[in-house]
Amino acid sequence: MQKMLKKYGLLIWISLLLITGFVSTTLASFVVSRDAIQQGISEQTLPITGDNVYSEIQKDMLRPVFVSSQMAHDTFLRDWIINGEEDKDQVIKYLKEIKTKNHAMSSFLVSEQSHNYYHADGVLKTINENEARDAWFFRVRSMKSDYETNVDADMANRDTMTIFINYRIVDYSGKFIGVTGIGLTLDTMKNLIDSYQSRFHRNIFFVDQKGNIALAGNNMKKIRNNLSNMPGISNLAGQILTNRKSESLHLEYKNDNDTMLVNARFIPELGWHLLVEQETSNEIKPLQNVFLLNMGVSAAITVVLLTIVLLTVRRYQKRLEKSASTDTLTNLLNRQAFDFVFQQALLDSERSRQPMCVVLLDIDFFKKINDKQGHLVGDHVLKEIAMISKRSLRESDIICRWGGEEFLILLKNCTLEKATSIAENLRNTIANNDFSRTTDLTRTRLSITVSMGVAECRDKESEVSVFERADLALYQAKENGRNSVYFSE
Ligand code: GH3
Ligand code: MG
Ligand code: MG
Repeated sequence: MQKMLKKYGLLIWISLLLITGFVSTTLASFVVSRDAIQQGISEQTLPITGDNVYSEIQKDMLRPVFVSSQMAHDTFLRDWIINGEEDKDQVIKYLKEIKTKNHAMSSFLVSEQSHNYYHADGVLKTINENEARDAWFFRVRSMKSDYETNVDADMANRDTMTIFINYRIVDYSGKFIGVTGIGLTLDTMKNLIDSYQSRFHRNIFFVDQKGNIALAGNNMKKIRNNLSNMPGISNLAGQILTNRKSESLHLEYKNDNDTMLVNARFIPELGWHLLVEQETSNEIKPLQNVFLLNMGVSAAITVVLLTIVLLTVRRYQKRLEKSASTDTLTNLLNRQAFDFVFQQALLDSERSRQPMCVVLLDIDFFKKINDKQGHLVGDHVLKEIAMISKRSLRESDIICRWGGEEFLILLKNCTLEKATSIAENLRNTIANNDFSRTTDLTRTRLSITVSMGVAECRDKESEVSVFERADLALYQAKENGRNSVYFSE
């Protein structure tokens, strides 16, 4: 594990850096863009929709409230009730006139004294305190404010859903004498909500002060539901329903893993809260796709970069290992590397009981070559001898540059006799070689001789001992006139 860490430490660091860099930048830009989109929806889009719907409502609602107020304050109407509701045609004509003039769905008057329900076409009925349908009148009777808006089925108009403005009429001393007003169809508002909903994929609906959904577009399901029964938004019901301020609330809730943004405002004319909500997933989806694409590209770049780094590191490692074990001038193994190889070979030969020999080679009077022809020629000679030796030995034999102008040859599976003869051949080849042929450094023939000492590795013999014997044999060769091969017996 530790070895792995050491070997691949660089790679791990680079990957960590790249991944952290890529992930943090893509994530940061995703989060910033998502927040900007959500903020845009929450603080601009939804409030603007709310404003538009509200201004349409004001257009639609303020006039009827104004008309109903005028009716309630009309001296004719008040006097007519106070004087005992005598000429019914008069009031019916009045109501018809109001209805057509204002393009209203209906116009009405209910008297407290007679409990008669008058509308544009006559007397509809007499209201009854015990009838649920008439409960609105008794509510308005005991109400503190001047009027209320109420969505109800209109009996006078085949029960179409209508917004009624129920305005209290009081006599000159302030006593309650009846309720009057006009009713408007919800169709205009519904159409408006529908068009907004389908155009912008937003939910637009109204809730009354108890949280019941008062009005919603056709697309909205569960129209008669209450805020507190709607999952997610129910937690916000308290906040929404207590808001009476003119500015709108910016809220949000979670719905099936999606964030829903809500804009809620109180509409005093209706006594309702207008809610505009939108899910954010549609807006954020393209952003998520870009995010995934970014991550994919980053991952690909990381993989490609890591592969390049891995290959480069491997190549350099190999080169380093090689340069640590080879001699740069001759490209042979150096002494350190040879030590390792020799130990292996010694074990192999002991196991297989095969003879193994070492040959120590030293160039004769090499100092003179350096002195007379210069170091470059000396170097050239060293390289050429390395090449000749390699060429005349077997693939399994190992040559190493032992020291300055000394080489050591390891002959595996080879007897002393055979090794001596191989050495003799090599000596002969070198002695007959013209070293000037392969270089421009000198034009005159350049002959070199070498001396060699051969020793066979004995059973359980130490490395030092076998080299010493080879060295001794070499010394004998030098002593006895050089250019010769001696072996240790
Ligand atoms: P002998 O026949 O007794 O071996 O004589 P020699 O001159 O070869 O012996 P000696 O050991 O005195 O000299 C070896 C010289 O080899 C000395 C050193 O400057 C030279 N030498 C060692 N390494 C290099 C090398 O890499 N390049 C060159 N040009 N010369 C080297
Ligand atoms: Mg020497
Ligand atoms: Mg020498």
